Amino acid sequence: MTLTLRALPAFTDNYIWLLHDGRHALVVDPGDAAPVREALASLDLQLGAILATHHHGDHVGGIANLLRHHPGTPVFGPAAETIPGRSVSLSGGEHLQLEHPGITLAVLATPGHTRGHLGYYGAGYLFCGDTLFGCGCGRLFEGSPAQMLASLASLARLPDDTLVCCAHEYTLDNLAFALTVDPENAALSARLQATREVRRRGVPSLPSTLGLEKATNPFLRCDTAALRASAVRRGAPSQPQAVEVFAVIRNAKDTFKVGPSDSGPA
Ligand code: FE
Ligand code: ZN
Repeated sequence: MTLTLRALPAFTDNYIWLLHDGRHALVVDPGDAAPVREALASLDLQLGAILATHHHGDHVGGIANLLRHHPGTPVFGPAAETIPGRSVSLSGGEHLQLEHPGITLAVLATPGHTRGHLGYYGAGYLFCGDTLFGCGCGRLFEGSPAQMLASLASLARLPDDTLVCCAHEYTLDNLAFALTVDPENAALSARLQATREVRRRGVPSLPSTLGLEKATNPFLRCDTAALRASAVRRGAPSQPQAVEVFAVIRNAKDTFKVGPSDSGPA
């Protein structure tokens, strides 16, 4: 059965991803129940599964309410974290065979933003929570640069046409930062123009594709000469390892200011 993807906007810049087959839906990271319940009602869908990538409130805050209205819905989430209503504890490496909607999802351990962070990959979709963003990556709240770099590298091994479903609309701010560390990258300036255009129309910049992220996202490009040089200019040792490049660039992003987003516990 054909699957249809919807981005449900929540709070100021979250997306709750809804994937459905016309009858049943799964939702990823329902930080708020209201947009999910409205979408289920207006599309006449049953809730079949709730997936959580990590424990932050903007990702799990709506689960209890959804369970009250859709009792018995399985809730998948990281074993290493506190997830309200979790019924299936995961640590990465599992394959979930869901029937409603019908999809097989590979569970990917992607620690770094939080210590138990998970990604879910199946049918060409990657639900990566706060690990990988459009042209960026999540902050390191509970993990090390080496952990996050390894998590991003494992995502980068997925096919280039993978649809990257991130949990926040941060792409435009991330592009502004990316251009400061990878200024000669023509794919990056092209992406900025294209993203400005879709955002001007109020359209989500996501999902992106993994191929586009690999061409433009500085955190997936720590092994390139351009990013190495940029990290050295910012204090990395000469001939830096990829993890040293990553640490310096991530640190620079933490203090880069273009707007209000990516400043909270995203
Ligand atoms: Fe978040
Ligand atoms: Zn988060």
